[in-house]
Amino acid sequence: MLTAADVKEAARAAGADLIGIASPERFADVPPERNPMSIFPEARSVIVVGRRITRGSLRGVEEGTHFNSFHMFGYFSLDSDFLALTTFSLVSYLEDRGWEATPLFPYPPEAHPQGIPVRDGQPAPNVYPDMDYAAVAAGLGEIGYCRVFLSPQYGPRQRFQLVLTDLELEPDPLLPDPICGFCGKCVAACPLGALHAERDEQLVVAGRSFRVCGVDWAKCRSCQNGAVPNRYHPSGKPERTAALCIRTCLDALERNGKLSNRFAHEFRQRDPWALDHFGQATMVDTSSKATGCADPGGFRAQKGEA
Ligand code: SF4
Ligand code: SF4
Repeated sequence: MLTAADVKEAARAAGADLIGIASPERFADVPPERNPMSIFPEARSVIVVGRRITRGSLRGVEEGTHFNSFHMFGYFSLDSDFLALTTFSLVSYLEDRGWEATPLFPYPPEAHPQGIPVRDGQPAPNVYPDMDYAAVAAGLGEIGYCRVFLSPQYGPRQRFQLVLTDLELEPDPLLPDPICGFCGKCVAACPLGALHAERDEQLVVAGRSFRVCGVDWAKCRSCQNGAVPNRYHPSGKPERTAALCIRTCLDALERNGKLSNRFAHEFRQRDPWALDHFGQATMVDTSSKATGCADPGGFRAQKGEA
């Protein structure tokens, strides 16, 4: 009988940097139109497969001199080619051993519905699970204050796909320790004022509650600071990994020793560039003890600065 360790070894051999397993019970509160169990009701495990966004693919964006390597190696091909190959290899591995395995890619849940229910009581197609929710449920990380998934290895730098299988595997525990330090630098770094500490709310994911800021998604969709439109559907949330807010978060997490993927040199080497609503150069303060969401358990408290 295959074990969770066997499956993880196979995924890593196929290139996975992150691999976690959730039980169907962790999706009990998810509505049917986003619930992976709607796609494969007999599934007994939700396997979350991730590959890193290399830090170097963000370099040209950080310097403001080259954006397309991130688009290819950090977004389009990373998802469609590299990660999809890892996912397909794991699916083949499971099906070679008699277990059905359903691959799912990160189409945005916001695009639902795209058809009508074919049976009473069923959600309309296409059901699109939320990858970040699944990754939290599989113990791979948390939702940071900036509303981006953070892992203890790479912070905001990864992409996920799912494999649903009728093979029952030992689920991973939820991540025990927090990653986000509630430093507020993501909020302070946004040149468009799209992140709102005054609109804080609690997001409940797989039974865990995460404090997140309010986001003005319309502003993010027009952002010229490294954000990219959702590649699958215009209703999906824009891709923010390379945007100034999330690059600032990456730098903050690394400087505070929160990430296990470490580098010889700091990510941010000079003051970041920033563009306002009109595409004109502007200034943001990413060095200050900004802003509005300082938390007693965050970076400052850990350093005795709170
Ligand atoms: S910049 Fe600070 S507050 Fe914002 S998500 Fe990152 S660690 Fe959390
Ligand atoms: S994507 Fe752009 S507009 Fe949105 S929060 Fe980040 S920096 Fe601000």
